[in-house]
Amino acid sequence: MSKCPVLTTTAGAPIADNQNSKSAGPRGPLLLEDYQLIEKLAHQNRERIPERVVHAKGWGALGTFTVTHDIRQYTKAKIFSQIGKQTPMISRFSTVAGEAGAADNERDVRGFSMKFYTEEGNWDMVGNNTPVFFIRDPQKFPDFIHTQKRHPRTNLRSPTAMWDYWSLSPEALHQVTLLMSDRGCPKTPMNMNGYGSHTYSFINADNQRSWVKFHFKTQQGHSHYTNAEAGEKIGQTREGYQEALFGAIEAGNFPKWTLKIQVMTEAEANSAPFNPFDLTKVWPHKDYPLIEVGVVELNRNADNYFAEIETAAYSPSNTVPGISFSPDKVLQARLFSYADAHRYRLGTHYESLPVNQPKCPVAHYHKDGTMNALGPRTGNPDAYYEPNSIAGAPQQGSTYADPPLALSGAADRHNHRDGNDDYVQPRALHALFDDGQRARLYSNTAESMIGVPARILQLALSHYDQIDPAYGAGIRAALTRLSVAF
Ligand code: NDP
Repeated sequence: MSKCPVLTTTAGAPIADNQNSKSAGPRGPLLLEDYQLIEKLAHQNRERIPERVVHAKGWGALGTFTVTHDIRQYTKAKIFSQIGKQTPMISRFSTVAGEAGAADNERDVRGFSMKFYTEEGNWDMVGNNTPVFFIRDPQKFPDFIHTQKRHPRTNLRSPTAMWDYWSLSPEALHQVTLLMSDRGCPKTPMNMNGYGSHTYSFINADNQRSWVKFHFKTQQGHSHYTNAEAGEKIGQTREGYQEALFGAIEAGNFPKWTLKIQVMTEAEANSAPFNPFDLTKVWPHKDYPLIEVGVVELNRNADNYFAEIETAAYSPSNTVPGISFSPDKVLQARLFSYADAHRYRLGTHYESLPVNQPKCPVAHYHKDGTMNALGPRTGNPDAYYEPNSIAGAPQQGSTYADPPLALSGAADRHNHRDGNDDYVQPRALHALFDDGQRARLYSNTAESMIGVPARILQLALSHYDQIDPAYGAGIRAALTRLSVAF
């Protein structure tokens, strides 16, 4: 029989008794010198960290990305340098609105995040299961999220707030159509696509930029619950996604997604009939066909959910040479706000946590602060500032500069609706649905409107009429069936 290690305190002192506190007598009271008890209770008090304001409930796993097609003409990123090349990665899927204890199978947009540990640093793809989002200007994000969260007085979710906001923000209706469609309630994380959603850029070895969108297509097939089925599922288990994803991987049924991209040249972007950097719009496939790139496979469950999934910190600012940003205004704001959220939630040096550490050499001069176990990562204790004349100390690498981006216009608060048609793409999506999908779309939308004042519904319905009169009529008929006044 193997000998068990002796239990210790966090400082390594052996613990003689882990069942009984130290007391003045058998009836107590306890002694303050029982630092082992104090350590235990103090740790328990600190087991929680702030949950994410959005995307609080999540599920994830680890895996591999394998290149299947050559896209070196578009990007010099080493992750794509060779067919067959494999890169370790970790994923986290999530709902947006619910808190950390929310039921998994609620109708909601799903977060779809992947961190690729490349030899040139971590590349994070922090997307959703939808190719678009509710807003095209980050000014609108905090207010939008407030409408999805709890009312400050009732502490309940508020359909009135949601529809008040959406009816005054018609650019949201493309995403709302996806949310209320079948794909707004996937059965499991395996049964949905992932999308980078934003436009990013690729830089190739000749330092030429093209614009790119990322699509992760499920190989498990799309599968959804109706509202009634989701309600039944939640009645059986609140942890449907965790059970499905964790269980599939434990059983050796490794889920896979095919990575595809759409590419647009800078010249095409200048002449596109829509703003290619507008997060409420897709790029039509017929104009920008999908190009296959590789496969993501999730094949290992985390050994510790908290250490590997809850504290995994994804940020769209984590890019690698050959992959970069675009003018997309919402992306620009997320570049700041995601890393900022992690610094608040996990600590300044959150990327020193094992799950966030790049698997390549890291060299920086950041000093001190919470969780800084190693000090500046310069390889030399004298090199704690920059520039310096110390041989071998890290220096900037000018060859990594992106090509300059030509800008035009005047810096101002441009009206984000000017020149934008908010109806054309939801119309194309509505046209894609068959009769059954439309009927469910109308009834899901109408159900979400229960309790909303008629004046708000009238404005919302006027937008649906502009998408397609049949869309507006379908929701009105469903509202009538539910006896909702509009
Ligand atoms: P296409 O017919 O070429 O592509 C349709 C896209 O819609 C496919 O990516 C498909 O994904 C997806 N799709 C199919 N059925 C549904 C559904 N029931 N709910 C949501 N998505 C679905 O058309 P376009 O490229 O011209 O786009 C038309 C509309 O399709 C857009 O306005 C947009 O709303 C939606 N769409 C477009 C995407 C794009 O990147 N162009 C991506 C996703 C949706 P899959 O292959 O996985 O079935």
